[in-house]
Amino acid sequence: MSAEDSSNEQRVAIVTGASRGLGRAIANRLAADGHTVVLVARSASGIEAAAEEITAAGGTADACTCDLADDAAVDAMVDGVMERHGRLDILVNNAGITRDGLMLRMSDEDFDLVWATNLRAAFRLCRAAARPMMRGRWGRMINIGSVVGVMGNPGQVNYAAAKAGLIGMTKSICKELGGKGITANVVAPGFVQTDMTDALPEQLVKEAVGRLPLRRLGQPEEIADAVSFLASDRAGYITGHVLAVDGGMLS
Ligand code: NAP
Repeated sequence: MSAEDSSNEQRVAIVTGASRGLGRAIANRLAADGHTVVLVARSASGIEAAAEEITAAGGTADACTCDLADDAAVDAMVDGVMERHGRLDILVNNAGITRDGLMLRMSDEDFDLVWATNLRAAFRLCRAAARPMMRGRWGRMINIGSVVGVMGNPGQVNYAAAKAGLIGMTKSICKELGGKGITANVVAPGFVQTDMTDALPEQLVKEAVGRLPLRRLGQPEEIADAVSFLASDRAGYITGHVLAVDGGMLS
């Protein structure tokens, strides 16, 4: 537990999409802050390696294999967390996928899959996390959006809609649960170096970075720093906020 945080007990955090990229950096950071971190992703090998990294550094990790597009699996995952740890204090909805394509050629399946993983699963997890957080009269819900959810992006109608949906959902949750000591915020990354951006054409990334005030890609640890702050007691009066961590892209 970091020096600033007042809870005497170890808080429990779920981080989805924690096997690599931003989620892995967020999980490492929250574990370094002293929280028990439940890491969630589909691939057992990826999530176990990420959990071992935390344990090796002296942290507490619990690896959970779960496909967030599968409603029943999500419910079982949350039930399992409550059975094993008895509490849930911090939820970071980070898992996300892309299925890019121009709208005229986008299939219903590609829209629905991105929607189910990036928005519906986040909704179901926030709903499931709300009761344990209300019982503890303290909670942090942090949804990883994207600058694309604010500004739109050609070829990403499905992704932008889901990320914009996360903003509306988070602002609504903040109003519903604020009186219970629970905050809900969005962290909206710009271009960050992960597998997701490595898959983009090099020229596209070079041009996009060239237009940024800070002239460089972000690093996963820089997103993790923002999440760590919002998850802490220091951010107790911040809710319903969209924090862009984007090198100035939205400026
Ligand atoms: P990434 O490297 O592709 O990692 C995605 C993570 O989500 C992996 O751990 C993956 O693990 C997990 N995941 C995907 N589908 C899942 C499912 N159905 N069930 C459970 N886990 C699932 O992505 P990233 O770049 O770190 O991005 C993380 C988040 O930040 C996403 O929400 C993304 O939209 C957002 N974001 C990223 C950037 C960027 O520049 N990288 C910019 C803006 C926003 P498995 O494959 O093992 O399931």
